[in-house]
Amino acid sequence: MTSQPLSVRLLDVIEHDILPLTARGVSLGNKVFGAAILRKSDLSLVVAETNNELENPLWHGEVHTLKRFYELGEKPNTKDLIFLSTHEPCTMCMSAITWAGFDNFYSFFSHEDSRDAFAIPHDLKILKEVFGLEPGGYRRNNAFWNSYFITDLVEAEEDPLKSTLKAQTARIKAAYDDLSTSYQSSKGGNDIPLN
Ligand SMILES: [Zn+2]
Repeated sequence: MTSQPLSVRLLDVIEHDILPLTARGVSLGNKVFGAAILRKSDLSLVVAETNNELENPLWHGEVHTLKRFYELGEKPNTKDLIFLSTHEPCTMCMSAITWAGFDNFYSFFSHEDSRDAFAIPHDLKILKEVFGLEPGGYRRNNAFWNSYFITDLVEAEEDPLKSTLKAQTARIKAAYDDLSTSYQSSKGGNDIPLN
């Protein structure tokens, strides 16, 4: 697995490990956000999880993944791990990733996507209201971590791999579109504070 480009592996984990969990989570009434933790050494999966806000509004995909990670018996050092988030982490999750000691995170969708394609504007609203920051106004590279968008990794690949990854990207986006429609039509019945 070590020879696999990171872009390939991250998209595969989203499509095959996170999405099935999220499909189940959304069917119960949770949001569409998911995350996973992989080893840097061989890109193998340590844990994948999805949003579980119906149990606890703090169980965003990322924090729920961290919760599961800390429940594992034997854990690798977070410095040896990659943090994958389907959506650019909110300020709570970004801080959780920082406090857990990760030196990186990779996102598929952006905060703007969460607002525009998913009708979930809270990341950007919190950034503005609490921190006075415009979209993208936080430090994406800082003393704690460097953050990346998977779309940029895909753009940096060359054909034919790039075309394959773009097709996979489109497939993943279509799956999230369906899940988002399902969440939005069911959320009226939940009492998640920021639904
Ligand atoms: Zn979050």
